[in-house]
Amino acid sequence: MSVPLSYSKGPAAPLLEITIAEALTDAATRYADREALVVCHQQIRLTWADLDREATRVARGLAGLGLAPGDRVGVWATNCVEWVLLQYGTARAGLVLVNVNPAYRSHELSFVLRQSRIRALFLHAADRRTDYRKILRDCTPPGHVVWLGDPSWERMLAGGSAIPAFPSGPHDVVNIQYTSGTTGSPKGVLLTNRNLLNNGLMIAQRLGADERDRICVPVPMYHCFGCVIGSMTSLTTGAAMILPGATFSALATIEAVHREKPTVLYGVPTMFIAELDHPAFDQFSFDSLRSGIMAGAPCPRDVMNRVREKMHCAGVTIAYGQTESSPVVTMSGTADPVDLRVATIGSAMGNTEVKIVNGAGETVPQGEAGEICARGYLVMKGYDEDPEATAKTIDPEGWLHTGDLGVMRDDGYITFTGRAKDMIIRGGENIYPREVEDFLRTHPGVADVYVIGIPDHRLGEIVVAWVKPRVGVELTEGGIRDFCRDQIAYFKIPQHVRFVDSFPLTVTGKVRKVEMRRIEMEGPDELRASIIESSASRAGC
Ligand code: AMP
Repeated sequence: MSVPLSYSKGPAAPLLEITIAEALTDAATRYADREALVVCHQQIRLTWADLDREATRVARGLAGLGLAPGDRVGVWATNCVEWVLLQYGTARAGLVLVNVNPAYRSHELSFVLRQSRIRALFLHAADRRTDYRKILRDCTPPGHVVWLGDPSWERMLAGGSAIPAFPSGPHDVVNIQYTSGTTGSPKGVLLTNRNLLNNGLMIAQRLGADERDRICVPVPMYHCFGCVIGSMTSLTTGAAMILPGATFSALATIEAVHREKPTVLYGVPTMFIAELDHPAFDQFSFDSLRSGIMAGAPCPRDVMNRVREKMHCAGVTIAYGQTESSPVVTMSGTADPVDLRVATIGSAMGNTEVKIVNGAGETVPQGEAGEICARGYLVMKGYDEDPEATAKTIDPEGWLHTGDLGVMRDDGYITFTGRAKDMIIRGGENIYPREVEDFLRTHPGVADVYVIGIPDHRLGEIVVAWVKPRVGVELTEGGIRDFCRDQIAYFKIPQHVRFVDSFPLTVTGKVRKVEMRRIEMEGPDELRASIIESSASRAGC
């Protein structure tokens, strides 16, 4: 008997055919006085009625700046109440929100401002780590710059005008999220109301969430984990969203769990590890938790077990997806046997088709590895201004090719086996080596460079660069890192730099990264020890 093919389809469920702005109006009607948003570090609490009213004020403020429906509004900020208000305010004013990673530095920010034609940018002047105002000075700023936590925000609200009437529908693009590109620059993923709202709804259904839930979101809002798995799941259920801090802090998160009594906790595995290992862990109560979502990187078995046992999180689940798929494609259920939750990334979400294909694009038999593909409402509209890259990712039948590898079991559950793409995941942040290589090649003393990821017990993987200096140039590891510091995001800066005269090559002259990785992993003990030590001392999650 032949083995069935690796194809499965999640349960059919009605999809929402409304806009995010309409969904907010609905939530405000249904859950008016229930808490919608708690921002711990700003000591702010909003009910759904408050959130709806404030979003309208922001929409009017944006209209008052002269922004017209379809214009793009960038938010380059860490988590804050204004981030969420801008998410809903832009949707209500018919604008497109562009998420800009707060870790971006001048090189990346200039690119995104230009590429996405941002007309207004919202940012903090500075925070503990970063002088954003200084970085912006090295770029060409857009027409409107509004400073968060500053009178210019209040001025924008005070200058509000009527929101222009505009035709809007579920299929309109409402958000652009950037992903690191395989081609050297980040790519803007175009996402519609229908993509985002329904992904939130499908996640909520698998979590079994409703308005009595409270979701603790220590992940960044600029990323789909915050602004979809967080915001959209909250919006489609009426569950409150709790933001513990501006950036991730293990202590702020476990304090927020203790004080705000969430029922659901999110995080990438690295965050859960930091929370479990925090010296003050035993002083806090986790009794309110029933579930959680771990996503973004493979979850080690012992971490899953500790979360279940020590964090009172019996129903913790694993979600898998990517920005291009809005993001969640597969997820385990809260009541699935634990083994299934540890060994797999779950099964296809509602209204989602999943298949596994070989290099020729044929669906492979169950039990065989191949590339994970997804189809349905969740597939992005495309990459912004990049039809070529879009056509390479979404085939004519509407299948999104994820670049991730997996094996489908006979029950439709999928084991994640790796990435077809050459990507590094460091503490949940994705890094395309090509992007870092292209940047380092702009250093005047660098003749050539190749970047790889090597395993790290805390961050999952760390970045290692092999640099060939130009003849007669003396380079230092510190010098290379200083060159990166104000120009690229901290998580892309190599933890270790090795200077070489040549690279291991294939017969056709291609660099053998597998061999570079082997040398790093199996090289002399002193070398490996120094890499691990440097990663531990420099890592800042
Ligand atoms: P992003 O577009 O930033 O959401 O990153 C998506 C990528 O993260 C995917 O293509 C996967 O390579 C990886 N990823 C996401 N979820 C998981 C998971 N549960 N297990 C392993 N890798 C994951």
